Amino acid sequence: MLRTESPKKTNTQAFSKALPERLQQLFPDKIGERECESCGNTVPIYMQNGVRHSRCLSCDNLALEKEMIQFQKETAADAFFWNNSLVPPDTQKTRFENFNLKGLSDSQQDAFRKLKWYAENFGNWGDFDSLLLQGNYGIGKSHLSHSVAQHVKSLRKNVIFANTKMLLRKIRNSYGDSKETEAHILKNIESCELLVLDDLGAEYVRKDKDGEESWAADLILTIIESREDKPNIITTNYNVESLQSKYGTHGGRIISRMMQGTRVVKFTGEDRRIKGGGNSAWNQG
Ligand SMILES: [Zn+2]
Repeated sequence: MLRTESPKKTNTQAFSKALPERLQQLFPDKIGERECESCGNTVPIYMQNGVRHSRCLSCDNLALEKEMIQFQKETAADAFFWNNSLVPPDTQKTRFENFNLKGLSDSQQDAFRKLKWYAENFGNWGDFDSLLLQGNYGIGKSHLSHSVAQHVKSLRKNVIFANTKMLLRKIRNSYGDSKETEAHILKNIESCELLVLDDLGAEYVRKDKDGEESWAADLILTIIESREDKPNIITTNYNVESLQSKYGTHGGRIISRMMQGTRVVKFTGEDRRIKGGGNSAWNQG
């Protein structure tokens, strides 16, 4: 709303009036005041070069502050992801956008649609919250689950993508100094808003009596139990029965917890990493 012009001339005005006309145009003239429609503050109106200017500085600052908070949240989600995730190098750049659907099997294309839907409808899935991706090597399980992780991270959520083998190695290597690293990793795994546990079952579980088997299985059970009622994506080359027998005495509990609120996405296809190798014997592995 325009207010009557103040009778007192501002210094800028007095100064600019003393200048030649062409130079005068460079200086803004205060021609009135208005009430900011957002915050109600009184805001000056300037005329410069025949153009009216009137910006509310407090609203501008507020907008800038909001932008910065948004940016900080984005940066925080990025930092959380890269500080806590263990992503194999060949998976780091994978996104939905570079998942090439050409020549893929129907079940792979179906898996792509399902995973994309899961990412885009994060938290609004209905009667399930987790996914189990099952299928042979090289058909895109890591690519798709990492794409979900990246998308959900872009929603400024705390996400962890952990290759199971790398995760167990990291925890095992931390035992030299203290238990701090393990506790820190497990705390973040428990608290994050989405956990991707990639390639479950590929980790080394030694089948002897020196306790190694129970160590890995214990850890897997701890992780799975800490993620109860929270969204998880687990990828594996194994079927449920093989996983269960792999984890020995913990197998039953791990599988039953893992399957709670979980939809299975089973798909098959050609191993893209060895495609074109020309040796069909490779595909048998
Ligand atoms: Zn304002």
